[in-house]
Amino acid sequence: MLKLALPAAAYLIAAAVAWGIVALALPPKVITLSSEPPVKTTTSAVAAKSTAPAYSKSGHDVTPLSADRIAELTKKLTPAEAEVILSKGTERAFCGNLLDNKKDGVYVCRLCGLPLFSSDAKFNSGTGWPSYFQPIDAAHVHEERDTAHGMVRTEITCHRCDAHLGHVFEDGPKPTGLRYCLNSASLTFIEKGQDAPAESRPVATQTAYFAGGCFWGVEDLLQQTPGVIDAISGYQGGKTDTPTYKEVCYENTGHAESVKVVFDPARISYTQLLETFFKIHDPSQLNRQGPDVGSQYRSAIFTVDDEQLEQAREFIAKAQETPRFKGRRIVTQVLPAAPFHEAEDYHQDYHVKHGGHCAMPER
Ligand SMILES: [Zn+2]
Repeated sequence: MLKLALPAAAYLIAAAVAWGIVALALPPKVITLSSEPPVKTTTSAVAAKSTAPAYSKSGHDVTPLSADRIAELTKKLTPAEAEVILSKGTERAFCGNLLDNKKDGVYVCRLCGLPLFSSDAKFNSGTGWPSYFQPIDAAHVHEERDTAHGMVRTEITCHRCDAHLGHVFEDGPKPTGLRYCLNSASLTFIEKGQDAPAESRPVATQTAYFAGGCFWGVEDLLQQTPGVIDAISGYQGGKTDTPTYKEVCYENTGHAESVKVVFDPARISYTQLLETFFKIHDPSQLNRQGPDVGSQYRSAIFTVDDEQLEQAREFIAKAQETPRFKGRRIVTQVLPAAPFHEAEDYHQDYHVKHGGHCAMPER
């Protein structure tokens, strides 16, 4: 059975919000400037600040730090560093300790450790301040209009902790034409080969797999769950190696529509993911989910290790005893993860691209 376009999107969204599993995404801020000196006009990838867990493409946790955490971190700063980082000061030209550093490595935020610039993007601008033509990840550097000192400039700050870094100008070299002008005081250099501290490393992610009917909806709601870094639609648990959507729908491949979830265990536990998964589908429906009928819509949990297997079984045993499942048997399969086959591109982020949703369980 093919997917149905249903009119109850509002219900789905309202239900998801009620369960507290939707992180509201704010539109990015657009900075537009028109005066001298030339400045970058851009849309920062994660410009809007939110306290919901957020991750950059390079896999770092870029959730803005709390005021308390920032206050704690500032205790390690020297007065000169604090003047630059907290009071938006500028160190004197040709005085910073990283201006002439030519070693390979990464420049991280002095305050919170977030990687900001790579030695690969460093160039000699002749200005007297360390200069880079691009950040290591656009989502790590926040841009803000700065009208101080009678000038209109674009200030750059650390996205995670708001530390002042410097400014960005449109007179840099290729390939970006940008010059990120930094204060050495705002940076810590980690040489290639050195161990980076935890706060400078990408998140140590874990993976989980859930099949709960139409993968469009399961992917959509799991993707919006705080702590979930990525949710990908695919096929799993069948007997063919290169399944297509058509084959899964109309042929007896044995595959379930499944969703691969990459998550941050520091933000959400596997058991909490199981709770969410059980909220967004009806695990008591055998080989169907609402109007979608067929074994590809079966409820299944594909576990990556013994720990997940045990947690999933324990979770189901407890759930079976709750009032929600009184008189209804949970039919969710729990089995070691079979190879996951990513679905065709047009199935990924389907609801983000097209709106709508799949059927929701009766509760
Ligand atoms: Zn920072």
